Amino acid sequence: MDLGLKDKVFIVTGGAKGIGEAISKLIAAEGGITVVAGRSTEDNNKTVEAIIAAGGQAVEVTAELGEPDACKRVIEFTAQRFGRIDGLVNNAGVNDGVGLESGSPEKFMASLQKNISHYYNLAHYALPYLKQTKGNIVNIGSKVADTGQGNTSGYAASKGGINALTREWAVELLPYGIRVNTVIPAEVWTPLYETWINSLPNPEEKLAAIVAKIPYERRMTTSEEIANMTVFLLSGVSSHTTGQIVYVDGGYTHLDRSIS
Ligand code: NAP
Repeated sequence: MDLGLKDKVFIVTGGAKGIGEAISKLIAAEGGITVVAGRSTEDNNKTVEAIIAAGGQAVEVTAELGEPDACKRVIEFTAQRFGRIDGLVNNAGVNDGVGLESGSPEKFMASLQKNISHYYNLAHYALPYLKQTKGNIVNIGSKVADTGQGNTSGYAASKGGINALTREWAVELLPYGIRVNTVIPAEVWTPLYETWINSLPNPEEKLAAIVAKIPYERRMTTSEEIANMTVFLLSGVSSHTTGQIVYVDGGYTHLDRSIS
């Protein structure tokens, strides 16, 4: 199946590591141009170099996305460099453990800044360009929006907000032919996941307990599986899909708990 991405330009936030890295690489493997946007020039460059070594096209833009000006810069850089933006993948985020008891009003607001503000800011600044290309937006959410996790109010609120914005933007952008969808991962082994599991008491036991409850094949989802769905939704092949929240989680969030 030709996804029709050739020479189209896609911004991937947090595109240097984990899920974002897999998305960046898949876009380029499908002939698209990936703009890897993340806070570390070194990490971004590693991914860009790997893409170019594989025969693909990519550039990096270093940005701490929690800062609204940085989001504006990412869009301006991309527009100036390529003259077009065909898609935005809002992926960067951090499960930062700002709980009701453990956190504070200041930490809660800072968590929203790290996890949801840049989704809005980037979409806002990208909109004039997406209107020109009838481009589209894919957000990466989390099952935490449905299930909770405990001790992570800022992250959970952000991920719930991202689901709401998916429907809201899908409606607002109908007149422009811009589609908006969200992909929900649950348990994917990435640098973020490793840090999170190691922050818990008995991480190995906890990991085994989680994996045992993933219905489909009792294994974690791979970053590549999240990327496959994301890039499908970015492409014109999913041309009548908008406002959808798609769970790529081996059935972890929804299937019957009594399955053994
Ligand atoms: P990851 O391994 O930490 O990779 C994320 C990348 O984004 C890193 O390079 C990180 O930089 C960068 N980044 C994060 N916040 C940033 C910011 N404010 N400005 C600039 N760069 C930033 O994370 P991941 O596990 O791939 O997660 C990607 C997305 O999937 C997130 O939205 C997460 O909530 C969601 N998700 C993941 C899982 C899972 O099981 N892994 C489950 C549910 C949802 P640093 O390395 O410098 O932090």
